[in-house]
Amino acid sequence: MSYLLNLDLISVGLTVASIGILGFIVFFSRPKSITSKAFLLFSIVTIFYGIVNYLSYQASNRELTLFLLRLVIFSAVWHAYSFYLLFTVFPEDDHKLSKRFWFIITPVVAITSILTLTPLIFSGITEIIAPGEVAQVTKGPGILLFVIVVALLIIGGIWILVRKMRNGDKLEQKQFRVIFWGVFLTFACIVTFNFLLPIFAENVRFIAFGALFMLPFTGFTFYAIAKHELLQVKVVSTEIVTFILAVVSIIELIVAPDITTIVFRSGVFIMILIFGILLIKSVIKEVKQREKLEELSRELAGANDRLRVLDQQKSEFLSIASHQLRSPLTAIKGYSSMILEGSFGKLEAKMKEAIERIFLSSERLVIVIEDFLNISRIEQGRMQYDFASVDMAELVDGVMKELEQNAKRAGLTFTFNKKDTGPFVITADFGKVRQVVTNIVDNAIKYTPKGSITVTLDRDADTRKVLLSVTDTGIGISRETLPTLFQKFVRAKGASKVSTSGTGLGLYVVKELMKAHKGQVWVDSPGEGKGSTFYLEFMAE
Ligand code: ADP
Repeated sequence: MSYLLNLDLISVGLTVASIGILGFIVFFSRPKSITSKAFLLFSIVTIFYGIVNYLSYQASNRELTLFLLRLVIFSAVWHAYSFYLLFTVFPEDDHKLSKRFWFIITPVVAITSILTLTPLIFSGITEIIAPGEVAQVTKGPGILLFVIVVALLIIGGIWILVRKMRNGDKLEQKQFRVIFWGVFLTFACIVTFNFLLPIFAENVRFIAFGALFMLPFTGFTFYAIAKHELLQVKVVSTEIVTFILAVVSIIELIVAPDITTIVFRSGVFIMILIFGILLIKSVIKEVKQREKLEELSRELAGANDRLRVLDQQKSEFLSIASHQLRSPLTAIKGYSSMILEGSFGKLEAKMKEAIERIFLSSERLVIVIEDFLNISRIEQGRMQYDFASVDMAELVDGVMKELEQNAKRAGLTFTFNKKDTGPFVITADFGKVRQVVTNIVDNAIKYTPKGSITVTLDRDADTRKVLLSVTDTGIGISRETLPTLFQKFVRAKGASKVSTSGTGLGLYVVKELMKAHKGQVWVDSPGEGKGSTFYLEFMAE
């Protein structure tokens, strides 16, 4: 029996201490918050209830037992009251309590709680009891008021909790769900051990554990409140643990039996103090750094979001502008080509040259605009591919014919060397691959001041790969620039001297389009001024 009695004491003592610690941690983390205050009030009432409830089963004296039992129901009233209050204010820091709360609920609770101390509710004890057993009490008429008030407060509290759970945002709903489970577990314990077991199994042993049943609720609510204030909670928890350690060691010091023990325990006490203070300091430092980091990352996330929006707007603008440019340009290109062909009469040599220039420039502009359009499509993820069988020999032939004029004007030898290893049929989007080849060949013309451009189409019989190479005798590419060439907006240092019209976007588009075709593109150059070769590789059908 005495062993069990001890178990009661230990469990109630530990529960009371834990609830107290949780209450104070929340309170000191945010002393001004009304939710913290309500939680502290609830914890204190719970502790009081736990202690008197425990004592009431230990006392053997009739009067004392009756008095303690009255204190139990006295605290039960305030318990229900603080439960109701907690959910009225949770999770706010500032909450103006209603007039109804101050002028109706609180006075009714106060009066009921005073009545619990009078014979109106518990009038006496019928049976003499031994310590550790439950006394039978005779109930007065006031018990009805007590039951109604407590039931209304608890139902009201749960009602508010459920309503907030439904209306809250996602995070709040999560918090409320945690609390709800706490309430549920606590009620399940109380119903099982205080009602079901005593009534059906006549086992009253567990009623004395009252405080223990409050632990799930207090713990879950603590978690829900503290989750917001995790960093502060860390500091306060460290402080409280250090404080408790210091108090324990000072008590040990006071009850020390002899001088050696005093010296030893003083040493322990001083060490606890020093290490405790160091620990608190380091936790505060860590918390501050974490807070700073969190703030920085929040700012960064904000800046990132703004950038993303800006980037999107840029892509949209690019797309709209390019579309607007395309149709007038098609007209310029079409009409200049017709003039050159003589559709509007014979041309003088001087005029012909001017029109030729118009035609060639507009042709280059078409490539650039097509690149712009492709970039915005790629970036907005709305690039669409129409895959079909494409004969590369035919495609390259078309590009060569289109760009022949440009090469001729630049005084370049322009050859298409088609090996007899064909057929060169691949699965591809004709328009996109044409854009890729046009870009590479046009670059070769742009960056070759004199000499030749040789385009070679070949197929490897073993690997079934179709390889197109475009070799020029132009300005070449330095070792350092080579790996960066396919990135957006990258132009080699000397490029603008040879061609001012470049954007640095063409090769990026080429790379992206080749990726979509599961093909490869790469470049090789012996160095600046020594020409370069671009390679495009596709899988044959
Ligand atoms: P753009 O030609 O509009 O500048 P590209 O993306 O097509 O943009 O090309 C990027 C850069 O690669 C060019 O600015 C140039 O420096 C280099 N480049 C491309 N093709 C050649 C080439 N055939 N010979 C030498 N450099 C080249």
